Amino acid sequence: MTVSHALEADLLRRQDPELAEILLAERMRQATTLQLSAAENFSSPAVLAALGSPLANKYAEGYPGARHHGGCEIVDMAERIAVDRAKALFGAEHANVQSHSGSSAVLAAYAALLRPGDTVLALGLSHGGHLTHGSPANFSGRWFDFVPYGVDAETGLVDREQVRTLARTHRPKAIVCGSIAYPRHLEYAFFREVADEVGAFLVADAAHPIGLVAGGAAPSPVPYADVVCATTHKVLRGPRGGMLLCGADLAERVDRAVFPFTQGGAQMHTIAAKAVAFGEAATPAFSAYAHRVVANARVLAAGLAAQGLAVTTGGTDTHLVTADPAPLGVDGRTARGLLAGAGIVLECCALPHADLRGLRLGTAAVTTQGMGEEQMTAVATLMARVLRRETDAQRARDDVRDLVAAFPPYPG
Ligand SMILES: *Cc1c(COP(=O)(O)O)cnc(C)c1O
Repeated sequence: MTVSHALEADLLRRQDPELAEILLAERMRQATTLQLSAAENFSSPAVLAALGSPLANKYAEGYPGARHHGGCEIVDMAERIAVDRAKALFGAEHANVQSHSGSSAVLAAYAALLRPGDTVLALGLSHGGHLTHGSPANFSGRWFDFVPYGVDAETGLVDREQVRTLARTHRPKAIVCGSIAYPRHLEYAFFREVADEVGAFLVADAAHPIGLVAGGAAPSPVPYADVVCATTHKVLRGPRGGMLLCGADLAERVDRAVFPFTQGGAQMHTIAAKAVAFGEAATPAFSAYAHRVVANARVLAAGLAAQGLAVTTGGTDTHLVTADPAPLGVDGRTARGLLAGAGIVLECCALPHADLRGLRLGTAAVTTQGMGEEQMTAVATLMARVLRRETDAQRARDDVRDLVAAFPPYPG
């Protein structure tokens, strides 16, 4: 059943046309504009079917075989399948698939390993760290003593010497490696070595690259990190949610940190949808997809650089590109607005060692739509024309509409 069927045949239209209109309008927006948000993707109709299933009705506190609610025998099977598939996909001894989001997974990792007041070394927020890596607006910054490391001003790569020096000076209880904006592979072996030297836990927050890891297009943090946190909805293309991977030694601590410490009942429809997504991610087709995502991002980065944008680190190893549009005469915020007016959807991001913000974009969604390197070059050219104000918004919007019309996210 295609999504259009699901929506058109849906009685939501009859019962609640107001909401049905909104769902259809959002579907239309996704299909007629260009989704370059680095964190987004189009999950499959099968994943959406699991999300929209009656498993959403089921309360299931606890874990399979040990629930606090009755009637869990069937949803227990869904969670066991999700856990088994995640373990197989990532070669992990243990998987917890209950985290409601990437942030909840990080919270659970800290809860499993740390006490309030502990020192944690993580990538600074202005250098690409996530809110959960010590933002004062987040529980992490409030409850832990975060020490930020950064990226080198010249290369844009993680400053290994600084990581080592800060670790030796501050003796953190945990080191976090992971970012919302780092376009290169992180050197997990290096972080493991530093963590071992100072007796720290290593937490890999692989929310972004975990889908590339699943497809064999990025190195895996699983052999190196004590706990790997991830989302299931970014490149991995599953439902919105989180998960944790760890060794058998930490399995019980991690499970108790998720439930009952930081969450209540598991969302069984989401867990079923995660199982579907893990099943998809284990296929050769997904591996080919993950490699295409990276190839597309490389072409997009090269295209943007050729157009004069300053691409951080000079390119990418992943799905993610960050760039400073300043050489074209606009700052990041203005650029985002101009691009949004043209139907090109992406975000601003902090640029390390800079005052103004840059642009962050990714190729996970457009690659799911079937776009290839030819389209990436066209996108880079179109973006530059918009940023140089060589085309008016309406004209650019039409160009975007023509481009995406050939690649419907949900055909049929
Ligand atoms: C996306 C992301 C998260 C949080 O995921 P949510 O599901 O939005 O809570 C955490 N850490 C990193 C590094 C991320 O990129």
